Amino acid sequence: MTTTLAAPRLTGHDRCDRCGAQAYVKVVLNAGGELQFCAHHARQHGDKLRDIAAEFIDETDRLAV
Ligand SMILES: [Zn+2]
Repeated sequence: MTTTLAAPRLTGHDRCDRCGAQAYVKVVLNAGGELQFCAHHARQHGDKLRDIAAEFIDETDRLAV
């Protein structure tokens, strides 16, 4: 088995900025700084976040395993 995925950048220690649940999405802002969200809040704010994000790391896939 080959894995081409980059190592996950979020761990169980990363928490959602909104509710404190485990974070699965990390957003690096164009303006600088980072935000972390759980799957729920990432979905809720996703469209807006993508507009202002320099980098959008979505690891919500890991929830489906
Ligand atoms: Zn949350």
